[in-house]
Amino acid sequence: MSRVYNFSAGPAMLPQAVLEIAQREMLDWHGSGMSIMEMSHRGKEFTTMAEKAEADLRELMSIPDNYKVLFLQGGASTQFAMIPMNLLRGKTSVDYINTGDWSKKAIAEAKHYCQVNIAASSEHNGFTSAPSQSQLTLDPNAAYVHYVPNETIRGVEFDYIPDTGDVPLVADMSSTILSRPVDVSRFGMIYAGAQKNIGPAGLTLVIIRDDLLGETLAGTPTMFDYKIHADYGSMYNTPPTYGFYLAGLVFAWLRAQGGLVAMAELNRRKAEKLYAAIDGDAFYTNPVALNQRSWMNVPFTLSDATLDAAFLQQAESRGLVTLKGHRSVGGMRASIYNAMPEAGVDALIAFMAQFSQGNCE
Ligand SMILES: *Cc1c(COP(=O)(O)O)cnc(C)c1O
Repeated sequence: MSRVYNFSAGPAMLPQAVLEIAQREMLDWHGSGMSIMEMSHRGKEFTTMAEKAEADLRELMSIPDNYKVLFLQGGASTQFAMIPMNLLRGKTSVDYINTGDWSKKAIAEAKHYCQVNIAASSEHNGFTSAPSQSQLTLDPNAAYVHYVPNETIRGVEFDYIPDTGDVPLVADMSSTILSRPVDVSRFGMIYAGAQKNIGPAGLTLVIIRDDLLGETLAGTPTMFDYKIHADYGSMYNTPPTYGFYLAGLVFAWLRAQGGLVAMAELNRRKAEKLYAAIDGDAFYTNPVALNQRSWMNVPFTLSDATLDAAFLQQAESRGLVTLKGHRSVGGMRASIYNAMPEAGVDALIAFMAQFSQGNCE
């Protein structure tokens, strides 16, 4: 069996060591005689596993005690609606920063519930940068400020955490969570779909300050109320048990790698060498402002787009797969999350140099 280097934006690669543990434990989890998939989520075995997963995540991210960690379903996209339902708390307007495709989806959904002010937008430059703090027009009466620290499709990542004063800051960290340490206390809420940097699709992580719970919009479904999930320890109904388990294995793996400080060092190195390869070769281009280039998603174009198909096909024959850019952007995109080994980035860089020199095949 040979594993490829999978540059998919999501669902994305998982650490091989994690998959191997899951494989070993598939038929008999810790001597229980059954798969963890076959177990009651209310049994001692599952709840012990779940508690350890949460504790490991809290340790990794240094999550303060006054924050709840929720393991939900529905993907980050469901959060686009749950956020206004839960966080308006009697207010009628919200601030959103628009830095790309996911920002826009979040904005469109929030508009169903309240007035949305655009605090800043980088649409004018084709979403190739993020606004600076001084460019944000923030309303002190907004219920919250929402932004996407890392825009997955165009590879734009904020190089700072916006200062929103007393207004809670809400971040869609789907494609950057766990890539480096982050000061959780700066946020009212952090959320992420799991399938990029946490585990398999089907699990959604929410980290929320506890004073923001319990004041939902009238008519909010029970399943959309964060307080319900917090009160029941994410077990109001059946959580996505297998995703929960795999996320727990990933958290333990991250701790064994040295935690988020070590991951940040590795991720910075992987990203810097890939951008250096792009910038150092006139055949490749990345249009994003230098200090706002994503460590996780690296889009680039070839100077001759008629060679795109040949690039993809020859990359694939070398075990470098899913490099095709998002359909709205074209070109290529290499997603290099935590689970992408540095050797995968090195192999991509070597192939890119060969290809641009016409030395392939
Ligand atoms: C992938 C992604 C989403 C969508 O996540 P789903 O779990 O598929 O709903 C939302 N926001 C960002 C930043 C993403 O990268």
